[in-house]
Formats: sequence, structure tokens, C-alpha cells
Amino acid sequence: MFHIYCPWCQEHREEEEFHAKGPAHLARPADPDACSDESWGEYLFFRDNPRGVYHELWVHAVGCRKFFNITRNTLTYEILETYKIGEQPGKRGDAEVVTLPVRHEAREPEVSVKVQAGGAG
Ligand SMILES: [Zn+2]
Repeated sequence: MFHIYCPWCQEHREEEEFHAKGPAHLARPADPDACSDESWGEYLFFRDNPRGVYHELWVHAVGCRKFFNITRNTLTYEILETYKIGEQPGKRGDAEVVTLPVRHEAREPEVSVKVQAGGAG
């Protein structure tokens, strides 16, 4: 269990009180009627699932019931900051995007196979 800082309540609360609601700063199309089905569907249903530092919309569901944003590292679950809706990410919002270390392919150990000369006979 870990604790999340609610910027509205201004205290850390247990994670079970919160729910993630998708990406933060998602821009709604200015004129939905002018959208093609494809672009409207893209806005409604398709989300990125990045690795690294990411801004997410959360709600303090069992607390103040207000929405806020979290900057979180999706690899380590580290929460870098929380901030209210309408605010911009603060000092760590421009944090470097974390990339996975280069993974080396698993190599099979070199096994020397001794072939018995002569075979059956
Ligand atoms: Zn709260």
C-alpha cells in the first residue's frame, strides 16, 4: 500500500481512496460535430500507454471526490507530483522521460557437445 497526496485535501491518503481516470490534459475536440467518426472514436476510446513519466487524471473517490492530476512514472510507480485541475505540472512536470535500459538478449550458454566418434557398431 502506498499513499497519494491529494492537492485538495492537502494530505496524504491511502491509495484505495483514489481511482485513475486516464491521461491528463486530454484536449476535447473544439467542435465534436465536425469530427469524423474515426477522429471522434480516437478521442473517446484510444489512449496511449507509455512507459516512463506520464501525467494522469485521478479522482479522490472516497475523499473529497475532486479530480486532480498526478505525474507518475509508470515503470516504478513513483509519483513525482500531484496538482489541481487547471494547474500546470510544476517543477518536475518536464522531467525527462524515462526509458528502459537496453535489454540484452538472453544467450544460451555455449555448450560443447562431444560427439562420440565411431558411433554404434
Ligand atoms: Zn481529496
